[in-house]
Amino acid sequence: MKTLRQYIKEAKDKSVAIGHFNISNLEGLHGIYNAAKKLDLPVIIGVSEGEETFVGLEEVVALVQTIRERDNYPIFLNADHHSSFERVKACIDAGFDMVIIDGAHLPYEENVSITKKCVEYAREVSKNTGRDILIEAELGYIGSGSNIKESIPEGAGVLTKPEEAKKFVEHTGIDLLAPSVGSIHGLIKSGKPHINAELVKEISHTVGIPLVLHGGSGLRDEDFTNAISAGVSIVHINSEIRLAFKQAVEKFISENPNEITPAKILQPALNAIAQVVETRLKLFNKIS
Ligand SMILES: [Zn+2]
Repeated sequence: MKTLRQYIKEAKDKSVAIGHFNISNLEGLHGIYNAAKKLDLPVIIGVSEGEETFVGLEEVVALVQTIRERDNYPIFLNADHHSSFERVKACIDAGFDMVIIDGAHLPYEENVSITKKCVEYAREVSKNTGRDILIEAELGYIGSGSNIKESIPEGAGVLTKPEEAKKFVEHTGIDLLAPSVGSIHGLIKSGKPHINAELVKEISHTVGIPLVLHGGSGLRDEDFTNAISAGVSIVHINSEIRLAFKQAVEKFISENPNEITPAKILQPALNAIAQVVETRLKLFNKIS
């Protein structure tokens, strides 16, 4: 099987993007996998620190690796927004394919220093094990939390400067960069800002490594397609699938108040997640 690095390179060459979707449970994993498999596309499963604690660190590795090995399918696992070297190390040691060290809220020098430490550790483990562990980092704060927000949080949305991004990539040696280009984490009630596709293009040319778009939930279709054409190779979606899960569970329970079988209660939620993921993957891969 090709490595995640090779799939990302292929996506970049074809001007499409790999979908990254977060899970909190087995229904999420199955919903995402069903949609990806239906379209025969590589897919990245993400867990934030909270999601990872809930599912279990070793458990989530076992789940994703089981599917990958059983079906010989390109499904990969990413540690989404991890904030300390210790947690990044734990994920690398447990078998994650990729890790995001999130130092975007830190002063520049501290962000460089923690990111560099993670890159060095990933390289060392890759060398010793024959794995190819990727490290992503962020520059520019785009808010935090995959939730519903009244408005854009304070301090978020300051756009990444291409020259600073270049310097950051050179200083840290990261494989992927998540810049701030207009999106904000979560679903914003007052409406999302547009993606600055010109800036994506400029950063992409300046840094020369694949870019990752966070805070995808709730963006307009053309924002995604413009960002992907401009150099984004991975797109993150979380809030939309959380909302689909919740709404499907609520609907089922209100329509079937006497049903107590978990599999029956959660099947519509699994299907709802698959539907969101399928729609997003088609868009990211220019499939009509
Ligand atoms: Zn994110």
